[in-house]
Amino acid sequence: MFEQDAVVDKYRELASGLPPFPGRDRFRAHWRELAGLGVLNDTGDGWVTEAVARFEGLGLGGLDPGLCYGAASQLFGIQMPLRTLLSADRLALLDGTADGELLLCHASTEEGGGSDPLSCTTTATRLDDGSYRLSGRKAFITAAPVADRGLVFARTGEGRSPFALSAFLVDLDAPGVSRGAPEDKSALPGVPMGSLTFDGVTVPEDRLVLREGAGLTVMAATTACERALLLSYALGPMRRLLEDTVAWSADRRQFDRPMGASHQVAGRVADMAVRVHRCRELVYGMARRFDEGTAVRHLAHDAAMVKISVTEDHLRIAETAGMLAGVRAFIRDRAGFADLASALAGSVYAGPNDLLRVSVARGLGLPVGNH
Ligand SMILES: Cc1cc2nc3c(=O)[nH]c(=O)nc-3n(C[C@H](O)[C@H](O)[C@H](O)COP(=O)(O)OP(=O)(O)OC[C@H]3O[C@@H](n4cnc5c(N)ncnc54)[C@H](O)[C@@H]3O)c2cc1C
Repeated sequence: MFEQDAVVDKYRELASGLPPFPGRDRFRAHWRELAGLGVLNDTGDGWVTEAVARFEGLGLGGLDPGLCYGAASQLFGIQMPLRTLLSADRLALLDGTADGELLLCHASTEEGGGSDPLSCTTTATRLDDGSYRLSGRKAFITAAPVADRGLVFARTGEGRSPFALSAFLVDLDAPGVSRGAPEDKSALPGVPMGSLTFDGVTVPEDRLVLREGAGLTVMAATTACERALLLSYALGPMRRLLEDTVAWSADRRQFDRPMGASHQVAGRVADMAVRVHRCRELVYGMARRFDEGTAVRHLAHDAAMVKISVTEDHLRIAETAGMLAGVRAFIRDRAGFADLASALAGSVYAGPNDLLRVSVARGLGLPVGNH
């Protein structure tokens, strides 16, 4: 067992010792340095809770939020579910992830449809020798410009059948794979995002995850883990916003008194603290349930609620901090800068919150369709 706060403190300290993050061109070097700190380890008793504490500490120590997001996304949204979905003889496909030598991406979204996985137009056609021929284009994929292997969702069946999709682990240096230029994105710019084009790529049979037609089952597992735990990356930035806003409100003088002497300002800061507390409880609560052995399918409903709640709290925290920082909120290299775009992105990635609300309502028994 481990002391959660001790892990947070240790990784806060480690983050401040890491070399500065100068940009995406050295992304793989930063990724390896991060992995060297044990950040991508996914084994051992209590590892999920410990991993959440590591991310919280790194974020508190000021690690670039995009890099932290990328690592949390791979660990919780890809490695963790694949460890339960891959058969024992295929687990070697994950070798190298923990030490940063193998970087994975999750390729589901296409230009024509993100919210609706069954709008997928990428196809995988089974050949006589059992292999598949993959053709199509995925867009807006985190880490696509730098990843080695992609968990790619493709159509193996017709129409809107729940068995129309399959998932494949595809080597991104295979003949026929090409990558688009990194997107110039405003949210989480520290991790690159881009497209992947598959032009008749041969995918061996043993790269099919689970079985043909199980794509939505695989996606249900990856997205539930991600919704439950990815926001661990944001706990540190949220706490930093709170700490900075407390210090600023105590020091900044307006109307012959500290700004924080205003009941309205103090109340807003207190609301930030309530939200930070709620987010930590929710994310660590999910982590503990995974560590206790609860199966991911039993956590999907709660994971959707946690994702909605934490991303919306994150956005409110960034908004309040930004408002109280005044003009500094809008100047990138000033203390008080409020990264609203990264916080807002949380309502879109890992399932748009509006669509997750629909699935929560369905789980409650309302007769609402899933879109
Ligand atoms: C930072 C970031 C990282 C990402 N990383 C990845 C990645 O690694 N891999 C990947 O595959 N994708 C990734 N995505 C893409 C993400 O999965 C999609 O953006 C998401 O699924 C929504 O798809 P869309 O952007 O095409 O929006 P659309 O599907 O066009 O929807 C736009 C908005 O309309 C609303 N909406 C649409 N339909 C409905 C409906 N029926 N009911 C209610 N509201 C609705 C929602 O608010 C939604 O946000 C990432 C996105 C972001 C922002």
